[in-house]
Amino acid sequence: MQPLFLKPVFKERIWGGTALKKEFGYDIPSDITGECWAISAHPNGPSVIENGPYAGTTLDNLWREHPELFGNPKEEVFPLLTKILDANMDLSVQVHPDDAYAKVNENGELGKTECWYIIDCKEDADMIFGHNAKTKEELIEQIQEGKWNDLLRRVKIKPGDFFYVPSGTIHALCEGTLVLETQQSSDTTYRVYDYDRRDAEGNLRELHLEKAIEVTTVPHQDAKNSPKVMEHDHATVTTYVESEFFSVYKWDVHGKASFAFEEQYLLFSVIKGQGSLTHNGEKYDLGKGTHFIIPVGFGEFEIDGDCEIIVSHT
Ligand code: ZN
Repeated sequence: MQPLFLKPVFKERIWGGTALKKEFGYDIPSDITGECWAISAHPNGPSVIENGPYAGTTLDNLWREHPELFGNPKEEVFPLLTKILDANMDLSVQVHPDDAYAKVNENGELGKTECWYIIDCKEDADMIFGHNAKTKEELIEQIQEGKWNDLLRRVKIKPGDFFYVPSGTIHALCEGTLVLETQQSSDTTYRVYDYDRRDAEGNLRELHLEKAIEVTTVPHQDAKNSPKVMEHDHATVTTYVESEFFSVYKWDVHGKASFAFEEQYLLFSVIKGQGSLTHNGEKYDLGKGTHFIIPVGFGEFEIDGDCEIIVSHT
């Protein structure tokens, strides 16, 4: 049994930039690359296994053909999606539906609860997180009258911050932010406001106000988030969230740290530094920007080096 290393898929976005190349050395398609779909089985951009007996297989096919690697799950689709986002410019203000709404209105898609680990951001960076309307009527009125400064809540951010963004939360990443996102495997976004920006052809991007208003949680609820820190031998493990959709941790490895997992498959993204993983006498490089999954039954392994890894599971 080997770890499953994954080849990411890149997405050009009008708000994207070049940080994915500068920070991670990825071969990006252009200087407006916004998203690295790092661990993805979503039909809009599945990642491909790079090594071992399943090399060349997409993650969605592996999930179907070898369910034993994932503990014979009941879910039809791989439930998680890990991305790195380069918000070189402001993203549109948006909101995502929950599972029940998406199932009915988006052809059986999952809802989208997501969370963000801020890898880096410019000084004094902020983002949009929630709104100030007390009732649905007030929300509709402020959207219709374009009172965006009154309506939208701005929150200061800094590198190392973590935000849990449940479905129904109005949000937007703003200019100068590099984020590791762990989310439900969904590509459904309702755009609320796009700063009246026009594309190269002079067109405004489509808004989805009716659906956005339907799914927005009113009043806004701030997700409580108090990370728990545990010291292990040569590793500090920070637990950011343990929710019904996913659990997300950061492992700070400094030296040779031992781990063992049997019952659950786990997703890994190396976001800083570098190291190596040793398992059954085989050694694998863990460079910055490496993404992999360890399957169920993987057992004991060692990570040696100086690196920060975002780890998640369902
Ligand atoms: Zn979002």
